[in-house]
Amino acid sequence: MEQTLSIIKPDAVAKNVVGKILDRFESAGLRIAATRKMQLSRADAEAFYAVHAERPFFGELVEFMISGPVVVSVLEGVNAMSINRDLMGATNPKEAAAGTIRADFADSIDANAVHGSDSVENAANEIKFFFSDREIC
Ligand code: ADP
Ligand code: MG
Repeated sequence: MEQTLSIIKPDAVAKNVVGKILDRFESAGLRIAATRKMQLSRADAEAFYAVHAERPFFGELVEFMISGPVVVSVLEGVNAMSINRDLMGATNPKEAAAGTIRADFADSIDANAVHGSDSVENAANEIKFFFSDREIC
């Protein structure tokens, strides 16, 4: 059974579509093994996105991720990482396939509704960043 990390970003939380997005995961056969609403600190956001620290959009990305609460979840199932990436759609919602979360709920490349781990190895690290073992059921 594979696990991946999902973040419902501040834009989607502000739009009150958390339940609709969680339903996409469950409807695709993924199980929500852990979930929590939280406000990221600046240090949290900088550490979580450290891989993008040298990118020109890093400052905006951090500001956006701390602009309001997020919902972090561990999704579980066969091929959970790639299934979640397919459900999310392309990073830029203008390029996201019809019916994907980003096509339906995102407004721009920075306010793009969801994060999802991009490899099984990164998923393990991202899950550890947010959840202890006893929070994952
Ligand atoms: P993804 O979230 O699809 O895995 P990346 O890992 O490449 O995409 O980028 C992380 C996040 O950084 C994106 O989800 C988006 O919020 C933001 N981002 C990426 N590229 C840009 C860009 N060119 N301009 C502004 N924000 C960006
Ligand atoms: Mg990414």
